[in-house]
Amino acid sequence: MKNYINGKWENTTGTSQITVVNPGSEEELIRFTTASPQDVDAAVAAAQKALESWSLTSPEERANWLNKIADAIEAAKNTLIELSHRNNGKSSEQAQVDVDNSIKCYRYYANLVKSFAFSQVTECDGGIELTHQQNPVGVVALITPWNFPLITSAWKIAPALAAGCTLIFKPSELVPLPEYAFTQLLDQIQFPQGVFNLILGDAVAAQHLVTHPEVNKVSFTGSTEVGIHVMQAAARSVKRVTLELGGKSPILILEDADLDEAVDKALGGMFYNSGQMCSATSRLLVHQSIAERFYQKFKAAVESIILGSDLSGPFAMGPMTTQKQFQKVREYLSIAKDEKLQTLIDFEQIAVPEKGFFIQPHVFVNVPTESRLWKEEIFGPVICCRSFETEEEAIRLANDSEFGLAATIITGSLEHGKKIAKRLRSGHIWINSHQMIQPGSLWGGFKKSGIGRELGQSGMQSYLEENVITL
Ligand code: NAD
Repeated sequence: MKNYINGKWENTTGTSQITVVNPGSEEELIRFTTASPQDVDAAVAAAQKALESWSLTSPEERANWLNKIADAIEAAKNTLIELSHRNNGKSSEQAQVDVDNSIKCYRYYANLVKSFAFSQVTECDGGIELTHQQNPVGVVALITPWNFPLITSAWKIAPALAAGCTLIFKPSELVPLPEYAFTQLLDQIQFPQGVFNLILGDAVAAQHLVTHPEVNKVSFTGSTEVGIHVMQAAARSVKRVTLELGGKSPILILEDADLDEAVDKALGGMFYNSGQMCSATSRLLVHQSIAERFYQKFKAAVESIILGSDLSGPFAMGPMTTQKQFQKVREYLSIAKDEKLQTLIDFEQIAVPEKGFFIQPHVFVNVPTESRLWKEEIFGPVICCRSFETEEEAIRLANDSEFGLAATIITGSLEHGKKIAKRLRSGHIWINSHQMIQPGSLWGGFKKSGIGRELGQSGMQSYLEENVITL
């Protein structure tokens, strides 16, 4: 595997080797050498060189390219789904959702950029004319994690290109195959040289990118821990930063909720993608008057989950994507044992495939708020539940977290749901739905879940820098 710099495939010159593994079978997929700081320098130089011409292209021209990217993904859909299945451990069904959503994202920004007001003129007293201009922020570094390849990157690449920025993209070194195939598509459609550059590297390359004086902005998605390093490193050269970080999101099941709907949304909101979602609703709060009936139904649903490599349907769950993540979740399960947490389900009756990084779903009830499992992001199929007496208590518990990425409310009345939603400190709130994210909506967190917003007009705005001409 090679880096893609200035429209050419270049050998990496790093020293460490990464082995990429199929998490469903533990078979080696590929081994590659990581990018060095010198490779990063070359990619940044290419992006700097391409900036002037790309930033001066018309919005229509950029929209055409974004649509060409969407067309290319569409044509290569089956390959991308297969790679995401093998590298990420996603079922083909879930991998297809990611690919479809990435296509939608490129098309969304193709449309937006055509109608966006990059320049606005206003008249002031005394014959003064003001022209407000929206300019590309410059060369941007895009760094992504491993849980939703193609889609997390689309949320960055599409608005950055639409805004007129040139970029260096560093996907997770653990799941590089879908993004590598995506770059091959850009090469095939002869995307303008130097505008898009791919660096296949680990923390060394990423750190060099974040501190590089010629990089104007970093858009990072990943853990809060690494996000804090990114923000500190970027501060030295006053880079713009967007940080999409961890979460520990609540799901509130109100007294008037339909129980079947509550079970459906709690199940999908937690166990989709084997719980490896920043927005997983992993803290469940249920009104005490319905708690017992809800738990009965939830127990039956979770115990119906089957583990396997390419299964479809709401009760199918794949492996953890990486061995490191598999070990991390197991550590939390041993903490749960030490903390003597009360389990709702008989997880041992769920069969585990012989090979692969599979973990059974776990549901803990009456979890104390001081438990590490209640407070910390686990990023695996583990949900912690508590009941509440009053809505004031539910809102207080929901907001009592260092994170604030997402929340779900299940209620029989949408008006009731909206009133509660106004009081939640979360970036995205679903009422009677879960994990549904439209390209025209908004993504980003309060508190330690991040800074800045992706998607929608705000997502493109974050790649623009405003100035004014006074005449
Ligand atoms: P991670 O923080 O370990 O790695 C993310 C990326 O950062 C990788 O590409 C990695 O190579 C790079 N990186 C490592 N060290 C770096 C450094 N010093 N400077 C700059 N970059 C560095 O995260 P992960 O394990 O890949 O992903 C899981 C985390 O991502 C979870 O915490 C999850 O909540 C979060 N996430 C957040 C969102 C969101 O939208 N808020 C979406 C998906 C995942």
